[in-house]
Amino acid sequence: EAAPIGHGKLQLRILIGFIAGLTAGLLTYTFAPGADWVNTVVTYVTGPIGQVFLRLLFMLVIPLLFSALVVGIAEMGEIRALKQIGIRTLVYTIIVSSIAVAISIALVNLIRPGDGVDPAAAADLLAQGAGGAASIVEASANSDAGVNQLINIVPSNIISAMSSNDILAVMFFALFFGIGMLLVQTTRTEVLKDAIEGIFEVAMKLIGIVIQLAPIAIFCFMFNLSAQFGWDLLFKLAAFVAVVLLALGLQMFGVFPLLLKFVARKSPVAFFKETREASLMAFSTASSNATLPTALRVADTELKLPRRIARFVLTIGATANQNGTAMFEGVTVLFLAQFFGVELGLSDQIFVMVVCILAGIGTAGVPGGSLPVIALILAGVGVPPEGIGLILGVDRFLDMCRTTLNVVGDLVAAQVIAATSSETVGT
Ligand code: ASP
Repeated sequence: EAAPIGHGKLQLRILIGFIAGLTAGLLTYTFAPGADWVNTVVTYVTGPIGQVFLRLLFMLVIPLLFSALVVGIAEMGEIRALKQIGIRTLVYTIIVSSIAVAISIALVNLIRPGDGVDPAAAADLLAQGAGGAASIVEASANSDAGVNQLINIVPSNIISAMSSNDILAVMFFALFFGIGMLLVQTTRTEVLKDAIEGIFEVAMKLIGIVIQLAPIAIFCFMFNLSAQFGWDLLFKLAAFVAVVLLALGLQMFGVFPLLLKFVARKSPVAFFKETREASLMAFSTASSNATLPTALRVADTELKLPRRIARFVLTIGATANQNGTAMFEGVTVLFLAQFFGVELGLSDQIFVMVVCILAGIGTAGVPGGSLPVIALILAGVGVPPEGIGLILGVDRFLDMCRTTLNVVGDLVAAQVIAATSSETVGT
């Protein structure tokens, strides 16, 4: 089992770093706005510390994402007899995640929670951030528009896609590779799958180590941001939290009931009652993986779903069907783009959408699993990845909420797939 990202005592230290950085920054903003020494501190101390932290995260994201995605897909077809269910699960996941991401992207565009910060300060930070981000990631997504961008999803050379952090192309390859492994099931591909899973475990462990630095990095990010944006920052952050909650709520109480009622023919009220225990567990642990045993029991004793289907869909879903995560990532990336005044055109937004759908499949089901993925998407669309510092302070709470949606989403998936296949209870 992979280790959680940023949990327990570390959460507390992150919160302290967040508040301390914010306070120091706001004091600076109020009493020494635009002072020379502030620039010096940002350029030589807090800026570089934050950059090193981000680079360590970036370093690990490609192996992490690649391995998670390949294994996620390959597992969907693990057992030959379950191929039917596997393909159904895959199709369901893609369709429902697309709806989720579309809702979240529409909301951010309608409400625009990140708009209206001081454009000069944003431009300043963008200039610095762009320097930092561009040196890490050649923002390939921004350089070509429209059709070209779509064509570029298919990498002509996987090594160069990886070396230029072309996240979408890497994801495409991982997806294709995973499907390949699904089609060739020999003892050798089993070994390969184990090895790729090993890469995933090691990458998770290393991210767990890097994240120990988070409290200091968060202090730096928050200082840099609040020294330049002042109080605006807090209001924007509150608006961001509200939009995330609204998006999650729409999926939970809008889309899921519709799926339950019309596809699975199950009363949504009864469903939510019967799955309460799993929701509570997801909310308190912020981890789909940790909630899996509870979800399995709920599917068995409360929902009374066929065991084989429930076991399969829920196990895969814990890592590969994460509606809440996909929504959260979409809102976060677009919010930060608005915040930093980065105009994302239609093709950029489609890019974000596709990445978030895939990221819902590729994000680890552990607390904070979204964070490294977001850092990479941000760099990919040319938004300063420092923005992640802003999010981290409120991440724990949002993580609890999105994980609840992830887990309930898995149970909805199990219910829908059970209803549309011919297996019966107890098999
Ligand atoms: N904590 C989430 C989960 O376990 C993943 C995430 O960070 O979005 O499902």
